[in-house]
Amino acid sequence: MFDSIQRGLSDALKKLRGRGRLTADNIREGLREVRRALLEADVNFTVVTKFIQRVEERSVGQDVLARVDPSEQIVKIVFDELVALMGPVDPKISFAKDRPTILMMCGLQGAGKTTTTGKLGLTLQSQGRRPLLVAADLQRPAAVDQLKIIGQQLGLPVYSEMTDPVQVCRNAVTFAKQNNLDTIILDTAGRLQIDAALMEELQQIDRLVKPDQLFLVVDAMIGQEAANVAKTFNDTLSLNAVILTKLDGDARGGAALSIKEVTGVPIKFVGMGEKLDKLEPFEPEGMASRILGQGDLMGLVRKVAEIQTQISKEELEEQQRKMEEGAFTLDDFRKQFVQLQKLGMKNMVGMMPGMSEMIPAGEDPEVALRRVQGMIDSMTKEERRRPHIIDLSRRKRIAAGSGMQAHEVNQFLKQFEQVQALMKQMASMSVFQRIKMVTG
Ligand code: GDP
Repeated sequence: MFDSIQRGLSDALKKLRGRGRLTADNIREGLREVRRALLEADVNFTVVTKFIQRVEERSVGQDVLARVDPSEQIVKIVFDELVALMGPVDPKISFAKDRPTILMMCGLQGAGKTTTTGKLGLTLQSQGRRPLLVAADLQRPAAVDQLKIIGQQLGLPVYSEMTDPVQVCRNAVTFAKQNNLDTIILDTAGRLQIDAALMEELQQIDRLVKPDQLFLVVDAMIGQEAANVAKTFNDTLSLNAVILTKLDGDARGGAALSIKEVTGVPIKFVGMGEKLDKLEPFEPEGMASRILGQGDLMGLVRKVAEIQTQISKEELEEQQRKMEEGAFTLDDFRKQFVQLQKLGMKNMVGMMPGMSEMIPAGEDPEVALRRVQGMIDSMTKEERRRPHIIDLSRRKRIAAGSGMQAHEVNQFLKQFEQVQALMKQMASMSVFQRIKMVTG
């Protein structure tokens, strides 16, 4: 699960832990990992080179922080830089005041232009606008029918006529005014590849219909090529924003980074599925995680942060102190159950060291934990603090008190010894390392 950049970096930067400064020399190997991850995520080569340079400039000279793995420090810088590079994002669209606003969609055939026209119409409708979808893609006859079907599904009006694209757009504006529709979305023609005739047609619409905003729809699955497509369109048409589609597939998202870096045009929305409600505002943080291959890691970090806010600071400090001293008792262990219960325990069980071993495969964690809790509750205060004093006769009594067998109490106490050792080991680790240790 963590065969990600973090692990590679961690190995590459092991020597640095806890002392010194980050220098060009000692982070070189680490940055090679970052480069590899970016190229794997399909980020354009030139973009990667420039990006690595920037990260290096920011890293060199920084003190290696105490108690933080240097790899985390670099991942943080990389993450911040990625976010900065792709942001800021403004998902709002500005509208004209006393006339219909015209939004022009363009892109290569198959990019998802017609689908996205519908999606955008639905989004704007839910924001209280009254959109008109315009079938200006006369290149592909089926596109007109496709847009009509989409309009029907969404209950949105569709304007179409078989003249020429500029005429369709112009007449659509008149139609919108007559029918009190305030947002016109033009679904223009695409081609399999960029060609002069297409660009000419789009330029003509741009010049004569004067759209307020120009959106380029790009398929994220084409990877690096996305940046080239965006550049060519932007050079001829001066785009306002990009909509990146098919991010529900396995595209790593490198396209998002390259597009912004190469063209300077922001990404406003992303397509997350074929269905018409699958349009989302673009979020650089989510995309940065995706590019770094750390989706799961970020989720876990958030969970840990959540635990930390729900459990009082004093309690955490107390736990930390006890862990360091190896004085983690059965009472503390029990307290952790209660904390887990508060958080909807089932999915958190794996994050508590030693816990998963106490739950037989296939058993409901809640049942297993109740059993453990029963055993702890049958012990005296002194026994919970110093479990090694529990002798055979006490074990039998605890077993009887909790409806267990003496050997099961025995086994539990052995497991708890391991937990204590683990806790001591973890006391000196950073949050990332703790997560890695318990999730494998
Ligand atoms: P156009 O030629 O650019 O108008 O592209 P279409 O709108 O006809 O879309 C081409 C194909 O991509 C269709 O099968 C769509 O359902 C699909 N598609 C569009 N957007 C997305 C998306 O965000 N995710 C997925 N998985 N498929 C999409």
